[in-house]
Amino acid sequence: MKSLRILAIHAHPDDESSKGAATLARYAAEGHRVLVVTCTGGERGDILNPAMDKPGIKENMTAVRKEEMAKAVAALGVEHRWLGYVDSGLPEGDPLPPLPEGCFAREKTDTVVRDIVGIMREFQPHVIITYDENGGYPHPDHLKVHEVSMAAWERSGDANYAPELGEPWTPLKLYYTHGFIRQRMEMFHELLLREGKPSPYTPMLERWKANKADVMERVTTQVRCEEYFEARDDALRAHATQIDPAGAFFGTPVEVQRKLWPTEEFELAKTRVSTSIPEDDLFAGID
Ligand SMILES: [Zn+2]
Repeated sequence: MKSLRILAIHAHPDDESSKGAATLARYAAEGHRVLVVTCTGGERGDILNPAMDKPGIKENMTAVRKEEMAKAVAALGVEHRWLGYVDSGLPEGDPLPPLPEGCFAREKTDTVVRDIVGIMREFQPHVIITYDENGGYPHPDHLKVHEVSMAAWERSGDANYAPELGEPWTPLKLYYTHGFIRQRMEMFHELLLREGKPSPYTPMLERWKANKADVMERVTTQVRCEEYFEARDDALRAHATQIDPAGAFFGTPVEVQRKLWPTEEFELAKTRVSTSIPEDDLFAGID
């Protein structure tokens, strides 16, 4: 089979491992080229793993997260590039404080779009993966990723746009990655309760209670990737400061996940090829 290319655009180091990671590992293992672009260095990430909350970590967050990312990339078998912007942090409080000076979310959109278009024209991806209009998770950097990805999707193939960035390249499909499927989480949650075990999914399911919608309703494409769940988990664990080993990501053993939910979920948001929904392959419809 011909080798195709996927470009996944993410906000922070660890996003690539928590949203569609096993899918990326699968396509890379099958001989396709997969490039992850991380827009920020994750400098303002909180330490979410109690075991990593120790001297020398917080002070060196940028260097620590670079090392973590290198391990995650190796676990997934993908290519990687940093865009070099600074994490905006997740603003908290009422009213919300202003975003910090010089952060990614405050960057001029066209500056970032130019970066992404430059990468698209060089790497020539057939498929783009990004976040939905809600950022998949309401972080200002995720919203920015959505905005710049959509603009770059339109402009990369336009010969009149920034010719100095290289020959036009028109990507064929653009997906939103949907990592937090309520139906899946409820299934795992109920299984743990039936077994009389504590469920790490409780806080998230509680937060969702008021909201009737499940993002599953938007999913067009489910990619089988259960063979790569270990690679995904290794990549998650590589982000040692960000991922609590007792948290929801590791709440259900891989072999149970394989049986109950062997896929990852995507929403085909834009396409320039014809395909029929539902799909089980990000390259469906591409010759
Ligand atoms: Zn993020």
